[in-house]
Amino acid sequence: MHDKLDPENLDPLRPGPPGVKAMNCHFDYLFARLQELVPGKRIVLLTDSNLAGLYTAAFSGHHLISFPAGESNKNQQTVDQVIRELIRMEAGKDTVLVGVGGGVVTDITGFVAAVYMRGIPFGLVPTSILAMVDAAIGGKNGIDVGIYKNLLGTIRQPGFVVYDYSFLNTLPVSEWVNGFAEVIKHACIRDANLFAMLERYSLHDFQGNLVLTAELVEKNVAIKSAVVHLDEFEKGERKILNFGHTIGHAIENLVGMPHGHAISIGMTAACNLSEKMGGLHFEEAKKVIRLLAKYHLPVDMEADHEKVFDVIRMDKKREGEDLNFILIDKIGHAFIMPLALETLRHHLKEIL
Ligand code: ADP
Ligand code: ZN
Repeated sequence: MHDKLDPENLDPLRPGPPGVKAMNCHFDYLFARLQELVPGKRIVLLTDSNLAGLYTAAFSGHHLISFPAGESNKNQQTVDQVIRELIRMEAGKDTVLVGVGGGVVTDITGFVAAVYMRGIPFGLVPTSILAMVDAAIGGKNGIDVGIYKNLLGTIRQPGFVVYDYSFLNTLPVSEWVNGFAEVIKHACIRDANLFAMLERYSLHDFQGNLVLTAELVEKNVAIKSAVVHLDEFEKGERKILNFGHTIGHAIENLVGMPHGHAISIGMTAACNLSEKMGGLHFEEAKKVIRLLAKYHLPVDMEADHEKVFDVIRMDKKREGEDLNFILIDKIGHAFIMPLALETLRHHLKEIL
C-alpha cells in the first residue's frame, strides 16, 4: 500500500483515482513529519476544539484553524468561519489544507478545500477509528443542513491520508465503539476473515495494542478503497457500503443517537431481513448480532416503526429512486436488493 515508487504519485498533492494505491495512504507515519509530504507548501491545519486542546504542542509551528467539536457543527456556519480564517491568513493556491480529526473534521476539510478558490489541495490525518476506516477514505465530504445529513457536498479525493496511530491514545472509549460499527460492517459485506479476527479479539485487546489496531485499520482501508475504486460515484457496487444505513440513518435522525449505535441497530435489522429474503442462515445472522453486542453496540431498541418508515420514505423522495436495500447472503458477501417501500413497511415491525 505504500506507493512511494509509483511514478503516478510522485506529486503527493495530485488527487488520483480513489484506489488504495493511488490514494497516497501513509500508514504508521509520524504526524511531526507532515511537512515532508508537501515540501515548499504552506500547511494550514484544520481541527476541532477537542483536538486543539489535546494536541497544542504537536500543532504548534503550523497555521491552525479550529472549530467547536461535534456533529451539530458540521454546517454552513462552520464552513463560513473556516473560510473567513483562510482569507485572514491569506491562504492561496499554494496552501494545503490538512484536516486533523474525526469524521466531522475530515468532511469539513474536504468540503472547504473543494470550494475555496474553486479548489485547493488537501490532505487528511484521521484521528478516530471511524475516520481512519471510513470517513477519510473515498473522497466523499459533506455538511448537514438542518435535519438533512450531508445534503451539501462533493466527491473529491484527498492528496494524501496520514495514519499516525498514536492519536488513538486519547480517543474516548465511546468513540472506539462508534468506529467499530463500521469495522463490523466491512467484515459483514466483504471479508469473512476480518469477521473471524473480530470474533477472536475484543475491543479491549485493540485499545491496548496499537500494532494490532494498525493491522485492523489497514485491512479496513483496503476493503473500503477497493469498493470505492470499483465505483467512485456510487452507481452500483459502492452502495454495499450502505449496509445497515437505510434504517440506521432514519433512527439516527429520529432519536439523535451516535452514528455507530444507529447503524448497529440498522445492521441487526438488515440481518433479520437478510434471513427472511436474502438466504442468510439464521445461525449467521445470530453471529453478526452477537459480534455487535460483543463490541458494546446496541442491537435493539423501542422504535416507532411508522415514524422510522416515514423518515425512510422522505429520504427516498429526496434521492428520487427506488429503495435499494443492502442484504448479505453470508458473512462476507453483500448484494443489492431492490425493494418496494411497501414491502419494507410490511417487514419493519418484525425486523426492527
Ligand atoms: P466521527 O465519529 O465521525 O469521527 P467526530 O469528528 O465528531 O466524528 O469525532 C468524534 C469525537 O471524537 C469528537 O468529539 C472529536 O473531537 C473526538 N476525537 C476524535 N479523534 C480524537 C482523538 N484522537 N482523541 C480525542 N478525541 C478525539
Ligand atoms: Zn456510516
